[in-house]
Amino acid sequence: MNINIQDFLEPEPLHEWQRAPFNLGSRTVATTPWAIISIPKDDQYEPLESHMENAVQAQLDKIKNHKFKPMPAIEMPELIDCTLCDSTGTTHIARCSECHGAGYVEFATTFNDYNPACLTCKGQCMEILPGGDETCQLCRGKGASFNEKTPIEIEGVHVNPNLLLPISSAPNLQIATDKETHMLFFKASDAEGVIAGMKL
Ligand SMILES: [Zn+2]
Ligand SMILES: [Zn+2]
Repeated sequence: MNINIQDFLEPEPLHEWQRAPFNLGSRTVATTPWAIISIPKDDQYEPLESHMENAVQAQLDKIKNHKFKPMPAIEMPELIDCTLCDSTGTTHIARCSECHGAGYVEFATTFNDYNPACLTCKGQCMEILPGGDETCQLCRGKGASFNEKTPIEIEGVHVNPNLLLPISSAPNLQIATDKETHMLFFKASDAEGVIAGMKL
């Protein structure tokens, strides 16, 4: 199965440019905080906001200069009920119930008032709740996902199996790893990208 760039969109996007693929130079790119992929430019997508260009290009440049080799055979773990959509396969976005959309919470001690960022929505004011009109991006609507606490080891890098799924059956998949930075680099036909490994 070929790689679908839509599978590299953020399940819980914090920024507008994480909601859809975008164009940068001669490539179309999709990125999350944990992975990035590029494919040859697809004109249906919009250019990236210019203030983001250097940061994204720097991520893409890290893919170069590695010795790639064929992906070793891996065994995927058991699927478990999806925690993001409660196994409904769908989600909706709502104002964060913890901070009521403020992005921070308030608490006071005898000496000070504090406004720490809301941990429920990570300061983003919105949260994703089960059920609704949108396909769950964590399980891709299947209602089940992999336990991210059971990473798969590939050449010394431990990867969340959910991040591996979009590339696991790509033809001619090649990988390279960097154990120091816990990075898994991949290439498959004209797609290439990086998946961040877990620091155990
Ligand atoms: Zn789900
Ligand atoms: Zn919040």
